[in-house]
Amino acid sequence: MTTPSYPNLLSPLDLGFTTLRNRVVMGSMHTGLEDRARDTDQLAAYFAERARGGVGLIITGGYAPNRTGWLLPFAAQMVSSSEAKRHRRITAAVHDEGGKILLQVLHAGRYAYHPLSVSASSIKAPINPFRPRKLSSRGVEDTIVDFVRCALLAREAGYDGVEIMGSEGYLLNQFLAPRTNKRTDAWGGTPEKRRRMPVEIVRRTREAVGRDFIICYRMSMADYVDQGQSWDEIVALATEVEAAGATIINTGIGWHEARVPTIVTSVPNSAFVDVSNAVAEHVGIPVVASNRINMPQSAEQILSDGRVQLVSMARPLLSDPDWVRKAAADAADEINTCIACNQACLDHAFVHKTVSCLLNPRAGHETKLVLGPTRRARRVAVVGAGPAGLSAAVTAAERGHTVTLFEAGAAIGGQFDLARRIPGKEEFNETIRYYTTMLAKHGVQVRLNTRADVVELAHFDDVVLATGVVPRMPDIPGIDHAMVLSYTEAILGSPIGKSVAVVGAGGIGFDVSEFLVTDESPALNLKEWKAEWGALNPPEAPQETRGALTEPIPLPPAREVFLLQRTKGPQGRGLGKTTGWVHRASLKAKGVQQLSGVNYERIDDDGLHISFGKDRSDPRVLAVDNVIICAGQESLRDLEDGLRRIGIDPHVIGGADVAAEIDAKRAIRQGTELAAKL
Ligand code: NAP
Ligand code: SF4
Repeated sequence: MTTPSYPNLLSPLDLGFTTLRNRVVMGSMHTGLEDRARDTDQLAAYFAERARGGVGLIITGGYAPNRTGWLLPFAAQMVSSSEAKRHRRITAAVHDEGGKILLQVLHAGRYAYHPLSVSASSIKAPINPFRPRKLSSRGVEDTIVDFVRCALLAREAGYDGVEIMGSEGYLLNQFLAPRTNKRTDAWGGTPEKRRRMPVEIVRRTREAVGRDFIICYRMSMADYVDQGQSWDEIVALATEVEAAGATIINTGIGWHEARVPTIVTSVPNSAFVDVSNAVAEHVGIPVVASNRINMPQSAEQILSDGRVQLVSMARPLLSDPDWVRKAAADAADEINTCIACNQACLDHAFVHKTVSCLLNPRAGHETKLVLGPTRRARRVAVVGAGPAGLSAAVTAAERGHTVTLFEAGAAIGGQFDLARRIPGKEEFNETIRYYTTMLAKHGVQVRLNTRADVVELAHFDDVVLATGVVPRMPDIPGIDHAMVLSYTEAILGSPIGKSVAVVGAGGIGFDVSEFLVTDESPALNLKEWKAEWGALNPPEAPQETRGALTEPIPLPPAREVFLLQRTKGPQGRGLGKTTGWVHRASLKAKGVQQLSGVNYERIDDDGLHISFGKDRSDPRVLAVDNVIICAGQESLRDLEDGLRRIGIDPHVIGGADVAAEIDAKRAIRQGTELAAKL
């Protein structure tokens, strides 16, 4: 599997006793399927699909070595031979496809969401209501034994090795940082003693499993929390972990409680590669670069420029299990690139729903959503080239139907064509590139600038209405004033003044506010982005710095913005669990004035007149240049009645079906599921 385009990425890596077929590691991602024995075959199918797609090394979601380490009550664990026996179905499925797989051993420490939790010291995490019990010295010893037993069971289960999870603020990371380790016994008090537990785990695991078993240690290379590790301590840990017998060092960035974003869309690509390269300077074993790597071109660049020898991706292999195969075929344009939205993966994990992917609804559902070739090719018309229409058109064509896609506008993308213009969401361009390539590849006839009419649609066997939404214009006196713009007009380039009121604080109100406070200059470079969030590159941090944090220096806002909602209370409650805090923090840093419990009285030459609450108290005028309406949407399905009148029963999907929660995740799932049945 080599191509002149990616000679490093696709070259094998000899680990001495075993060889990885290329440099792509599928990083650990908890899918929810790990937690229930009945989901074992689904989990095996999920991994097998990624192995079939060519991934060099897969790492499972986290398995606890004992019950105090469970992420949740009765969550995934590996503590018995019967569990190991069940895992043989997973390891065999991956090996049958030529892949290799490690079991991740994860002890949640104070991130465990249950009352049995333990940590280095009894200090509650800010993101968890449960206060952990301090492990006794005996408890530390027992925990080390449990990690070793877990590795032995992984070997029994047929795994090629284990990843010992030492980053992201979990137990081993808690032992390493003075923030969470206040001990004065043999396991704390000095940097050497704080390192002792993870190093002992690696050393004793190596003794127990022998030489020909991969031990990957995932270490936190930048904690991004107060009183985290210093750079010297991180380097010392890397060298000690190597000496203790690790085969590979993987990169972890930021604790879960950190307030520096590390994986969302707005984090620049390859943002943390420098620190992995710096660690690699100090060790002889391969180091894996991680976080915000999603395309072969950048992965190749990382491997050819730096010292790291592997790249890790988790979400990009959810969105496209054939990522490696497509790179090897020099068909990177066909990769369905992860846009780091977290909407169907991490946001699902947090509410204990099976992890999937907004762009690829088959992820995690490989045995249920099957897309084989059709036995009876039909003529299919899809009206509307937003996410719902695009997924329906491409999937139907891929299955062998003859598809025509009508789009009234001049470009495909629908709401994604707007999203890609929001600062920090530039990566949504990749989705449009993917669909453009796939429409051509599967021979979909695309008719842009064309409003389909009922007469024309009558010639098709199936009609899919994916006509989307129009912005809702609320009934505010003066809504027709020249200063009022819909969010589409604003994003698509209407002139906007220096002071703006945004009506509606949902996902789009937040996006539009971000758009308004950001200058039109190119996207932030890595240095500016790190300065905005107060994140240092640890090797460059002053020696006494802990946690790689400094004072944030946000760029000044481009405009004065008021973000308004009628509902009382904090704004942005409906935003994604793992992304909402980033949007909220970003607007706060830019001085956006958030007003809740607002009544919109009227709009006139003086600006937007508002008052508050039922008693219409505190009336005031926001003397703004523009009012931008982000008050939700209404479905656009004007063709439906006409079609029904002539006896055609259209399939209505996406925002045209339900506007209340226009949501690309549902739109793409509906489009794919419908096309799977045609
Ligand atoms: P939304 O989340 O439903 O928010 C609509 C906003 O408009 C609400 O804040 C609502 O607040 C207000 N509103 C509703 N009816 C109104 C009326 N008649 N007059 C004045 N205000 C009214 O809708 P959206 O912002 O358009 O986003 C749509 C969907 O896009 C979201 O559900 C999300 O799935 C997706 N999206 C998400 C993100 C993200 O997470 N970053 C970004 C973009 C889009 P009050 O009723 O309190 O005034
Ligand atoms: Fe990537 Fe979003 Fe899919 Fe998660 S849901 S894998 S972040 S595209």
